Amino acid sequence: MKKEKKDISTLILNQRFLREDTHGSISMPVYSGAAFEFASAEEMESAFLGKSGRHTYSRISNPTVEAFESRIRQVSGAAHVLAVSSGMAAISNVFLTIAYAGSNIVTSTHLFGNTFSLFLVTLKAFGVEVRFCNLLDSNDVAKNIDDKTCAVFTEIITNPHMEVADLKALAETAHSRNVPLVVDSTIVPWPAFEARKFGVDLEVVSSTKYLSGGATSIGGLVIDYQTFDWSHSPRLNTLAQTAGEKAFTVKIRTEVSRNLGAYMSPQTASLQSLGLETLSLRFQRASQSCKELAAYLQTLPGIVSVQYTGLPDNPFYKISCEQFGEYPGAMLTFNLSSQAACYAFINRLKVIRRATNLFDNKSLIIHPLSTIYGPLSDEYKKMVDVPANMLRLSVGLENVEDLKADLLQAFLPKP
Ligand SMILES: *Cc1c(COP(=O)(O)O)cnc(C)c1O
Repeated sequence: MKKEKKDISTLILNQRFLREDTHGSISMPVYSGAAFEFASAEEMESAFLGKSGRHTYSRISNPTVEAFESRIRQVSGAAHVLAVSSGMAAISNVFLTIAYAGSNIVTSTHLFGNTFSLFLVTLKAFGVEVRFCNLLDSNDVAKNIDDKTCAVFTEIITNPHMEVADLKALAETAHSRNVPLVVDSTIVPWPAFEARKFGVDLEVVSSTKYLSGGATSIGGLVIDYQTFDWSHSPRLNTLAQTAGEKAFTVKIRTEVSRNLGAYMSPQTASLQSLGLETLSLRFQRASQSCKELAAYLQTLPGIVSVQYTGLPDNPFYKISCEQFGEYPGAMLTFNLSSQAACYAFINRLKVIRRATNLFDNKSLIIHPLSTIYGPLSDEYKKMVDVPANMLRLSVGLENVEDLKADLLQAFLPKP
């Protein structure tokens, strides 16, 4: 039977880059230089005014990064993609484009540590308010939105709380009040998660994680579906009169990204482009192992609970299947009797590495409260509510039986 649409792996491997290469290189060369030369002053003028589409300076755009952005655009089905230097750069670029003094962001306290600090501490100094609510409760979200709300923001599976909001419901609530829905989709990559199907307007990704192809580099993506009517945004409504649904794209591309200077480096784009080519394969393997390990951990003595939304007894199982399919990523958390038990467990592991980061090719374990959330004040620690007896495991590409054996021996230390 002839398939209508090519599989995403084939699609990715068949992508051509935009401009011909002199030598017919099969992969995009790394254009590592800072600046590009012109034959005449007229050509320079045209390039600097954005009329010819030519590159001028690698803080603004670069052929290798452009090729990577174009590949991501095709995979995600987005209208525009901006590649930046980290996941945090993606989030800060977005909010420095849409937020303004007096505006507010509606989100929950269950956020990645630096996102929490960006909203609550960094943006606060510029007069941006963050409103924490329960994103699992539409009424609570609706109550917190007002005419100064610049976005509703959520992580698609919160890290490390592992909660899943109903994105369609969130989009509906936000859109009914003329507010865009912005999500951090780092935890589940395409093709397992297709943001545009759920009414997401802007997607941010830490490409350091799955995309980099094994923790090769730090990077971030701003993925713009051009679905939101920016004439409702006090910050972008003037621009929307001329740019229409492209108002956000124009603002971030021609102003904010240039001024912040956090564009992705060509070396990173090259590494992550290669990572993209094996993404589907690695995701399949790692997420299948993760699901198997989640079920396995539940059978071991000494486990208090296991959180993985792909387990049928998880409270988010149904919505997780609707949004992400059978394998909602390669990260799980589990609880032991105490923080001391967690430390003893971590210290006995021989295959699984003691490190932060997610979706390396190697399996990684961390005690989030004492590390990622360690620098927070007691007040903020209380707000983020990360349990002291919880460990986070990011599952890699090792043989799953070897991972099971490692987990088992860490429970049963030799006398
Ligand atoms: C890692 C991570 C980030 C930050 O990404 P960096 O590339 O480290 O800046 C943001 N959100 C989530 C969910 C993450 O896991």
